[in-house]
Amino acid sequence: MATQQFGAVLVPILGDQLTRDLASLRGRTKDDTVILMMEVWDEATYVKHHKQKITLIFSAMRHFAADLRDAGWQVDYVKLTDPDNAGSFTGEVARAVERHSPRAIHIVEAGEWRVQQAIEEWPDKFDCEIEILPDDRFIASITEFRDWAEGRETFRMEFFYREMRRKTGLLMDGDKPVGDQWNLDKENRKPPKGEMDAPQRPLFEPDAVTREVIALVEDKFSDHFGSLEHFEWPVTREEAEETAEAFFAERLTKFGDYQDAMVHGEDDLWHSMLSTSINLGLLDPLNLCRRAEAAYEAGEAPLNSVEGFIRQIIGWREYVRGFYWYFMPGLESDNALNARRALPEFYWTGDTDMRCLSDSIRSTHNNAHAHHIQRLMVLGNFALLAGCNTRDVQDWYLAVYADAYEWVELPNVAAMVLYADGGKLASKPYAASGNYINKMSNYCKECRYSPAKKTGEGACPFNPLYWHFMDRHRERLEQNHRIGRIYSTWDRMGEEKQRDYLDSAEAFLDTLVPAAKGWARQG
Ligand SMILES: Cc1cc2nc3c(=O)[nH]c(=O)nc-3n(C[C@H](O)[C@H](O)[C@H](O)COP(=O)(O)OP(=O)(O)OC[C@H]3O[C@@H](n4cnc5c(N)ncnc54)[C@H](O)[C@@H]3O)c2cc1C
Ligand code: SF4
Repeated sequence: MATQQFGAVLVPILGDQLTRDLASLRGRTKDDTVILMMEVWDEATYVKHHKQKITLIFSAMRHFAADLRDAGWQVDYVKLTDPDNAGSFTGEVARAVERHSPRAIHIVEAGEWRVQQAIEEWPDKFDCEIEILPDDRFIASITEFRDWAEGRETFRMEFFYREMRRKTGLLMDGDKPVGDQWNLDKENRKPPKGEMDAPQRPLFEPDAVTREVIALVEDKFSDHFGSLEHFEWPVTREEAEETAEAFFAERLTKFGDYQDAMVHGEDDLWHSMLSTSINLGLLDPLNLCRRAEAAYEAGEAPLNSVEGFIRQIIGWREYVRGFYWYFMPGLESDNALNARRALPEFYWTGDTDMRCLSDSIRSTHNNAHAHHIQRLMVLGNFALLAGCNTRDVQDWYLAVYADAYEWVELPNVAAMVLYADGGKLASKPYAASGNYINKMSNYCKECRYSPAKKTGEGACPFNPLYWHFMDRHRERLEQNHRIGRIYSTWDRMGEEKQRDYLDSAEAFLDTLVPAAKGWARQG
């Protein structure tokens, strides 16, 4: 469209772009800028997000808008209940263009493919200049990842991570890693020792703004998953900062050691609980890494914890974002293992005797959070072994976690958990029997199943499911140098034992009640 000269520059700020350092605000003057923030129905419902997730995002947006106004910015804030709310970003930008006749729209690229596709249509829709800026809150740009990935057959995080270490200089001693090792993950797999009693992170009482959003969510999204009984997430930069401070002061020291541990009733353990704030834009990821590095340099935290924390952020977080953009849109429909089983209903109700699963689902329901190993080795492992439908599993993860945005959820779920990409991300499927969970948690002690029992009544279902999975994917996995050797164990068992495993798995799979339609998406 031909561009006409009108008024100020319109700067739409999306719900996960809540920082004054945003590229679209940089260098702008307050009298020549109208900031647009929009609560829209499409975004709140494209999957039926956990009630705490919607509350978190809307409350953080409202607090951020107030903060911008206090700082003198002109903010046009559209609430969900605005009677003329168009329900979509594009519809709301169209209304804002009517109201403000901007000479240009400057927006930072969206985190999610779906939203970015809509933004890229704006130049054809609106009669003003549209500038889409890179999201430089990430350390690696989308192009940088593409340049790294181009021509590779496998895309291991480890090599990308080393590039990020070199780029940022984090934990580097010249061109060598501090301590002469890039990755101390092997030190970070200690099983829990009884009750862990990790220090409590700060919990925040909802203020008036949050209470208003909670009432809105209870009213408009009452059929969404999750409880709002204890909404305690940080919703402002100050609260997020307090959470980060507490983590560095009290929990970073043991973050590494117990990164993979799971303890009944201790939902946070030594994890940072910062993902919601980082993903919203309330905390800067690089700044957090520099602070972790400073704690190591000051002798306040061990290298395995600090390297582990930094790797999660400049390694995994950056990597999955690059991976998402490199493999979208195909990643969404990849299904290399042809997984088709409907997601069991207990993912939504928590109603299962498998204690590891019921505990992880309870935490998910009550807090919109479960930590990494629960997501990967309990909830994900079950979905992988049972062959649950990739789409159902993706929708579940996207809906239930307060930190879930497709750019970070999808690579973790489709590629890491479900191996749906056929091994581009992971060198082997993260498949495990009950032994792993028994070693890394205290769940099994009180479970109705026994991890020591391999088949039949009372056997931990992960045991026969593991072999059922291995057997049905033999053709593909036997060639895999990291997992292929397992088939000699399988073959040595003999036919009768194998049959016992397979029958036991099938008998268990037959008991699974599929989730009704309508939990994750409008029915
Ligand atoms: C199946 C599955 C789904 C996941 N979905 C999400 C999601 O939707 N959103 C999300 O932010 N994280 C996701 N993760 C990654 C991880 O589980 C969460 O980031 C973490 O549990 C958040 O809690 P924390 O802040 O206490 O993390 P910590 O354990 O303290 O880790 C520190 C930070 O590292 C980053 N991080 C750690 N692991 C990953 C990872 N695998 N990918 C990206 N960033 C990582 C996060 O920013 C996190 O805050 C998923 C992992 C799995 C296995
Ligand atoms: S016995 Fe099996 S199902 Fe029960 S808690 Fe342990 S791993 Fe989970």
